[in-house]
Amino acid sequence: MIPLPPGSTLGILGGGQLGRMLALAAARLGFDVVILEPEPDCPAARVSAHVITTPYEDREGLTELARRADVVTFEFENVPARALEILAELGVETAPCARALATAQDRVAEKTFLNAAGVPTVAFAEADTPEGARQAAEQIGFPCLMKTRRDGYDGKGQSWVEHLANAEAVFHALGNRPVIVEAPAAFVRELSVIAARGRTGDVAIYPLGENHHEGGVLRRTLAPATVSEAVEEQAERIATRILTGLDYVGVIGIELFELADGQLLVNEIAPRVHNTGHWTQDGCDVDQFEQHVRAIAGWPLGPTHAHAQIEMENLLGDDISDWAKLGAESGTRLHVYGKRKAKAGRKMGHANRRMPD
Ligand code: AMP
Repeated sequence: MIPLPPGSTLGILGGGQLGRMLALAAARLGFDVVILEPEPDCPAARVSAHVITTPYEDREGLTELARRADVVTFEFENVPARALEILAELGVETAPCARALATAQDRVAEKTFLNAAGVPTVAFAEADTPEGARQAAEQIGFPCLMKTRRDGYDGKGQSWVEHLANAEAVFHALGNRPVIVEAPAAFVRELSVIAARGRTGDVAIYPLGENHHEGGVLRRTLAPATVSEAVEEQAERIATRILTGLDYVGVIGIELFELADGQLLVNEIAPRVHNTGHWTQDGCDVDQFEQHVRAIAGWPLGPTHAHAQIEMENLLGDDISDWAKLGAESGTRLHVYGKRKAKAGRKMGHANRRMPD
């Protein structure tokens, strides 16, 4: 039954911080959440009605998820495609659809889809062998960036190739796996746009965020970013093309490069709520987590305008030990993920600071 009424159950594949914040948003609208996650004691488990601890592709686990959930979503884009196939065989709907997940999991499929949808990216070539990697690098020119087609995240699984002589060595260093070779984007800023599409094809787009990375990991997002009208219009056009092209239902994160002339290129898409959208929790009436719940449950999408300027800072590793200080800062809201161990670089929480307008 769509729209799903309060009291319905949402299933989530993945139990990290994104699943936890989705579960909290779902609970506020009266939904129960069931999580399927391989790791016991995950951040989402302690705020959800049910937890199934099995591998993602475990048929028994997925059968229980299908029995309990009215619709299933995911918070992690490396969920095996097989899990979604099994859910389809079991007759449960997933949102976003399997095609959106498959497109985002493969950098070549992703850029091929984007270009076909009229969305610009850097030039790229693909390769499966050392010799192919040489040829792809030669075609793109130097320097170029070689990335594994699959399973990359937070800047992992990629390396610059400076000369033709290095191409094969980089291919080996990346694990002899299928790769994409990309031209360098001469960007002046990294931006992102968080957008949503509902079940009736309605689209809602948040203001852009400006992102700063350290060591390949997102450190902070400033939002709404100060951008020209032309940049804002491009971002809206890009988001709409991607969402409609994938017949998407839910929230998507779109990472962008802003070039010196104001042109935007898409770096990658994440078919889920996104770290660069955490600012919406304290900058918007309806944040990205509630928006995703609304979309997959078939509710009307909420407003996306910002009522405050926010600086979102990721709390990595030991940063979280400053919780008392951060909790005492006026104008700062602290979001803690409940992870047991603060390993170096691990995302433990974030702080949303309200900035002067
Ligand atoms: P990714 O894993 O694709 O999100 O890339 C991680 C980071 O590497 C991005 O946030 C950029 O800072 C940088 N990067 C990725 N692709 C390119 C590219 N084609 N040109 C220049 N920098 C890139």
